[in-house]
Amino acid sequence: MAGTLRLILGDQLSPGISSLSDANKSADTVLMAEVSGEATYVRHHKKKIAFLFAAMRHFAEELAGKGFRVRYTRIADEENDGTLRKEVRRALEEGDFDRVVVTKPGEYRLLKDMQQWESVLGVPVELREDDRFICSVNEFAAWAEDRKSLRMEFFYREMRRKTGLLMDGAEPEGGAWNFDQDNRKSLPKSVTPPPRATSEPDEITCGAIEDVRARFDNHFGDLEPFWYATRRAEAERIFEAFASDILPCFGDYQDAMAVGKPWLWHGVIGLYLNCGLLDPLKVCQRAEQAYRDGRAPLNAVEGFIRQILGWREYVRGLYWLKMPAYRSMNALEADRKLPDFYWTAETDMTCMAEAIGQTRRHAYAHHIQRLMVTGNFALLAGIHPDEINEWYLIVYADAYEWVELPNTHGMAIFADGGIMASKPYAASANYINKMSDYCKSCRYSHTKKTGEGACPFNYLYWDFLARNQERLSSNGRMGLVYKNLEKKDAGELSAMREQAKDFLDSIGAVPRG
Ligand code: SF4
Repeated sequence: MAGTLRLILGDQLSPGISSLSDANKSADTVLMAEVSGEATYVRHHKKKIAFLFAAMRHFAEELAGKGFRVRYTRIADEENDGTLRKEVRRALEEGDFDRVVVTKPGEYRLLKDMQQWESVLGVPVELREDDRFICSVNEFAAWAEDRKSLRMEFFYREMRRKTGLLMDGAEPEGGAWNFDQDNRKSLPKSVTPPPRATSEPDEITCGAIEDVRARFDNHFGDLEPFWYATRRAEAERIFEAFASDILPCFGDYQDAMAVGKPWLWHGVIGLYLNCGLLDPLKVCQRAEQAYRDGRAPLNAVEGFIRQILGWREYVRGLYWLKMPAYRSMNALEADRKLPDFYWTAETDMTCMAEAIGQTRRHAYAHHIQRLMVTGNFALLAGIHPDEINEWYLIVYADAYEWVELPNTHGMAIFADGGIMASKPYAASANYINKMSDYCKSCRYSHTKKTGEGACPFNYLYWDFLARNQERLSSNGRMGLVYKNLEKKDAGELSAMREQAKDFLDSIGAVPRG
């Protein structure tokens, strides 16, 4: 009897994935493949590739232990055909299958390719919805229909009502939907972040690390030390350690940044959630439990749940609603190249060196580093969206296009012209100095706006405002900053703009031409 070939992708490592829901273990085969096409269409961070290969190998073992027949292609296998389409074709040629079933991928590029498979492979190919999200693509589209504004906050309230998370009857727990005003503390010197739970690489993970070293050594980032979990039980253990020991302070310091302290009180679970090792609803429920048990305050738990139930679901819905046109938007006509220090971390700007340096080491930076340091710099400098979007997709272990693109394109660089954010998140050195200790050890002065030693974020900020005055001054939320721009001494503004241009040219952020 012919069986079904069930393809599982590297970010579909969930036993309840829709492609397996009706599997016949005696007739069907699960196909998993490590392919260079997916590892190199952008040159992903080495640690990200190793993490995914190791997690895939563990998941294949998990499925085999449950009685599934698994066909697994390793990156080093001689017969490996290099792309998912070719690996599916090879499996079809070598086995007896009358259809292919796959859960839809998280990326428009791959979905378009899969939609051609039925005609090019000559068998029925069923593409199923990815129901691991709390809000389906159709549900989001229905919410968005006829709305003038697609602000996350309103969507988030709907999700709170839908799930009952942090609800007190029909009202939000604590009388407010959002406790962000309590979540902007900078880090006092006397407070030390807690130690993190880590996972020791086992033989399977070490094998994946060696395979990546042998094939992708010229990719960005450090492979070791490697301590991310690659098995479900380990990811759950690490999350549990966060929920019980770290979550209580997550809210207070969630926007803080500090030299040499990449983790602070963050969950560092995006990589597990986004490949399917953790379940989004379960982690929200566990966080709520910590609040209900009196072990974590409401501002921390609400802030954590908003990241997952709000932002994560929202960006995924927005991505599928707006693609493919979304990716080519460039509302601010940004046209400069990405400076080389985004890859090397070699810059005298301490904030950038810290954020990029830890990204090289860990394939991780927290949301404020991504939004207000590397993202803010790209926004102010006018880096072309394609260059900065690709960078974010490459460098973070949790980055897939559905989550990366709206966060970068919409939130960080305002390339969507305000679909996501009501105004650009543009900030001078003042913000970075307030939320971090970076400026204390920087060769630039955060208070100086022009001349030798002036912080680049300052003159770039005023250049950004002046450059985009026509586009942005009618935005109600920009009124105050544009009033300040108009009050600026013309000579000082012109000096800042000149310095901005010279600086950008000097770091290689030149127009793409
Ligand atoms: Fe960054 Fe400017 Fe502060 Fe240096 S002075 S750390 S460049 S904001």
